[in-house]
Amino acid sequence: MLITEKLAERLPFLSSTIRQVEEGGIQIGGTKADAGLDDRETLNVIAELALHAVTVFPALKDVRVLRAWGALRVMSPDGYPVYAQSPLHEGAYLVTCHSGVTLAPLHATALVDWLESKSTAPNLEGFDENRFTLSQAA
Ligand SMILES: Cc1cc2nc3c(=O)[nH]c(=O)nc-3n(C[C@H](O)[C@H](O)[C@H](O)COP(=O)(O)OP(=O)(O)OC[C@H]3O[C@@H](n4cnc5c(N)ncnc54)[C@H](O)[C@@H]3O)c2cc1C
Repeated sequence: MLITEKLAERLPFLSSTIRQVEEGGIQIGGTKADAGLDDRETLNVIAELALHAVTVFPALKDVRVLRAWGALRVMSPDGYPVYAQSPLHEGAYLVTCHSGVTLAPLHATALVDWLESKSTAPNLEGFDENRFTLSQAA
C-alpha cells in the first residue's frame, strides 16, 4: 500500500487499486505475493504501484507519498473469508480472511450476531471451510 498526503480535489473516478478516502488521502495498492512470513515491502513493487497510479492519474506525479507498507494476509483458494463453526466443539469458531481491515464493519456487526446465534444473524453457511473439500468424483 502507498498512502499519499491528503488532496483537496477528488479523483474523477476510483478503481479497485486506487482509492481516495473521505479525508482526501489516496490509497494505492493491489499486489500480492506468496512470501512466506516475510511482510517487508520491496522497492520494485512500490515503484510499480507508483508508476501504475501516475499512468492512470498523471496529476499524481507531484503528490507526496506519506508511507508505504505491506502486510501478511491469509489467501483462501477462492479469495473469500472462511467463517466456520466447529461441528465437534460448541462455541468454537474459525474466522479467517485476507481483508480484515476492509471487512471490519461487517465483522463488528453481522459477524458478531452470527457468533452469538442471534435471530438477525446472516446465513454464513456458504463461507464454511468445507467448500474447499473435493468431492469423491474429483
Ligand atoms: C488496492 C487496495 C488493496 C487493499 N487490500 C486489502 C487487503 O488485502 N486486506 C485488508 O484488510 N485491507 C485491504 N485494503 C484496505 C486498507 O488496508 C485499508 O483501507 C487501511 O485502512 C489502509 O490503512 P492506512 O491507515 O494505511 O490508510 P489511510 O488512508 O491513512 O487510512 C484509511 C482510513 O482509516 C482512517 N484511519 C487511519 N488511521 C486511523 C486511526 N489511527 N484511527 C482511526 N482511523 C484511522 C483514515 O482516516 C482513513 O479514513 C486495501 C486497499 C486498497 C486501496
